[in-house]
Formats: sequence, structure tokens, C-alpha cells
Amino acid sequence: MMAKEFVKDITSMDEDFAQWYTDVVTKADLIDYSSVRGSMIIRPYGYALWENIKNELDHRIKETGHENVYMPLFIPESLLQKEKDHIEGFAPEVAWVTHGGSEELTERWCVRPTSEVLFCEHYKNIIHSYRDLPKLYNQWANVVRWEKTTRPFLRTLEFLWQEGHTCHATDEEAHDETKRMLEVYADVCENILAIPVIKGQKTEKEKFAGAKFTYTIESLMHDGKALQSGTSHHLGDGFAKAFGIQFTDQAGNLQYVQQTSWGFTTRIIGAMIMVHGDDRGLVMPPKVAPTQVMIVPIAQHKEGVLDFAYELKDRLSKSVRVEIDASDKKPGWKFNEYEMKGIPLRLEVGPKDIEKGQVILARRDTGEKIIVSMEELDEKLNQILDDIQKNIFQKASKHREERTSIASNLDHLKNNLETKPGFVKAMWCGNRECEDKVKEETGATSRCMPFEQEAVSDKCVCCGVTANQMVYWAKAY
Ligand SMILES: [Zn+2]
Repeated sequence: MMAKEFVKDITSMDEDFAQWYTDVVTKADLIDYSSVRGSMIIRPYGYALWENIKNELDHRIKETGHENVYMPLFIPESLLQKEKDHIEGFAPEVAWVTHGGSEELTERWCVRPTSEVLFCEHYKNIIHSYRDLPKLYNQWANVVRWEKTTRPFLRTLEFLWQEGHTCHATDEEAHDETKRMLEVYADVCENILAIPVIKGQKTEKEKFAGAKFTYTIESLMHDGKALQSGTSHHLGDGFAKAFGIQFTDQAGNLQYVQQTSWGFTTRIIGAMIMVHGDDRGLVMPPKVAPTQVMIVPIAQHKEGVLDFAYELKDRLSKSVRVEIDASDKKPGWKFNEYEMKGIPLRLEVGPKDIEKGQVILARRDTGEKIIVSMEELDEKLNQILDDIQKNIFQKASKHREERTSIASNLDHLKNNLETKPGFVKAMWCGNRECEDKVKEETGATSRCMPFEQEAVSDKCVCCGVTANQMVYWAKAY
């Protein structure tokens, strides 16, 4: 009853999805704006979320044998230019430093848009023999890309990420690594962020600048647009040749290393918001929620209520991330505030509950209220949090299924995108012209050639010639 009134500040998703998104990121206190165009201040609530995601990914990166390092922020122009395709791909969005204090630099420096060239220069110095391989490095850093249009988390001038850079003795090993890290990203997305993903390979047009090929995971947002959620590139020996990264193999021959790079960014927070959010605001997956349980004392002025609530918090904090709001704001305000912030569970406790030895739990995902006895509480909390995690994943999977269609020609594809925005599965002949034409006519791009192929037709969706490659098409962020 009070709910409507309190969430009136958030635009309805169906009315204006873009505005809904902006309302949520600012009102749920994830970010704030500053005078730096296209950049964001990540507020404590947003940063705690990022840290939880980062920790999950970081331990998987280490478990698969990688070591963390840190590279310089700046790249001299001459270094960036060493690999031709790479510089061509990034040149339009590079920020340049031309002065140090009042002195003009003899050579411009760019602020890293990605760090392949810095890793390559370093690898050339430290790799000499097959005994030095593989080299499995990762860095957590910020990068800058001079984007024209920006949106918090989705596209910002500066963003946070990790970039893995590895060197291997053989093409096969590098291929395995590319696949392994894509699986790690898919694991974090599906099992931690509850975001279902499609795994596949990018087309030549959409691959990373300078890569042999790019693997990607693609997810579908509530509005039916796709979002690239993590990429892993097999770089082949293109960078190794440009930088002279060679090693002596066991037979004594000089070989070029095979390289990979892979990245996962704060963009994923945008995906999480757009996959799980609703008209009341954020819905946080319990596994990354900075606060999993919010205690709201009822009639807290009554004797014993606050003491009880604080004791409860101490007890529960051993197994869950729990906070308490004992401010003098009304419970109704608190309910709505924490629903907007997406906190998975609210725990209400008042004088009557204390008397009966129980508390009331309210689920953010379903709105369901559950009375739980004090004895069962610890166990129940963990069960319900697990259940929320599963439920939102299933909900997102169902939504994606409902928004995935098949098209056999261009009109069909266009019609599907208009009537039911989402993924469209269609065959492609492999020609760049057809890929370009699909984009021109429908606004959709090829998201990936999925590892799990289906023969949804035998002809290219665009030109009608025989085709055996199935592609996921969608409009994308
Ligand atoms: Zn074609």
C-alpha cells in the first residue's frame, strides 16, 4: 500500500527502460556523477558489489594458475603502434597525454585502453626458453576509452576491469587457455551473478583488434537487448612477431610464443541490474549482495527490541552479510529503501515476535513473507538465500527463452526484432557483406557463433545461399 508512494521516483521499466536504469543506479546509491564527463563515481554500495564480484573472479583466476601483476598507466605512442591491427582498432578511442607539467613531450603517451603492448614488451624481456613458459599473468586495473555516448557501468570513459595476458609454447595450449578463461567467466556469470550466458565465437568483424579469434559470453537484458559479458582472445603469434617474443624450444629451435588475452569489466554490474531488476529497483544476487539480510526493528522504541535486534545481528553475522537499520525513519520507508537497493532478505522483528520467539523474513525476489522460529533461523536464512539465487537465475533463463526466436530470412528477422526484441537464431553464409546488411536493415549485430550449433535452416538469413553456420543476432548495448 505504501510501496507505490515510496517508489514513485523510479520510472517504470516498460515506460522508459533507459530512464529506469538511470534512476536505479543513482537512487540505489551505486554511483554518482562528477564534473568528469562520461565517468562515474562508484559509491560505497556499488564498490562493495564490485569487490564481491572481483573476489569471486580473482580466486578463480589464481586457482587456474595465474599471477597478478601491475603495469604502467601510460603507453608511449611508438609502443602502441607496433601491432598494426591493434592500433587501428583502438586509435579512435585513445586519450593522449601531450604535456608533462608545462613541457611538451617529445612523444605522445596514451592512457592505456588495454595493455597488450605493455605485456608484450615485458614478455620479450623475460621469456627466452621453453622453461619460461607458460607465463600466466593478470592485472586488475582501470582503463580509458574516449567514448562519445556514455552510461554508468555500460559505457564509461574510464572503467575497472581485469585483463589476463598469457604466453604459451603451442597454438593448442593457447587455444585451451582461451577456452578455459571463457569458462571461468561463464561460471562467475551463471553461478555467482545468476546471469545465463551463451558461449560462442565472435565473427571476424566483431573480433578483438589484433586477435586470431575471440570467444565471448553474451547475455540478454530485460528489454531484449544483448550485452557482451566477457571476452577471451586467442592472439596467435601476431603480437609475438611484432614484438619479437621468442623462445628456444626443447629441440633448440627459436619459436614465437602463442598468446591470449581476456577481460571482464564493471560493465557486468550493468548487466546484473538489467537482468534482475524490476519496477521496485535492484535485485541483488545473494552471492554478491553487499548486504544479504537487512534487519528492520519494529516498534523499536519499546523496551528490549533494539537490544534483541543487535544481538541477532551479532549472531547472524557469523554466517551471512547482515546489517541493521535502527535509525528513527519509519519501517515503511526502510522496507522500500532496501527493496530498491535489492537486498535479498529483510528481517522484521518486533515486541510480538520476540514474545513468540520468531522473526519475519521478506524475500526481495518474490515478495513472500515467511515466519521463522529463532531456533531454525540460521539454517533457514542460508536455505532461502540459496533459493533466491536459484530463482532469479531460472527467471532470467525463462525470460531469455521467451525472447529467443528463429528467422529464415531478413524480413522475418526484422519482424522478430520488432515484435519480440531478443536473440534471433539464424543461419549465416560467412560473408561480411551479409553481416553488414543485417545490421543496416535491422540494427542487429552478430552476437556470436555459438559453440552449441543448431541447423535452424539451410540458407543464409540474408542472401539465401547455402549456409551451415548458426549465429545469434540481437540489438546490443
Ligand atoms: Zn549470406
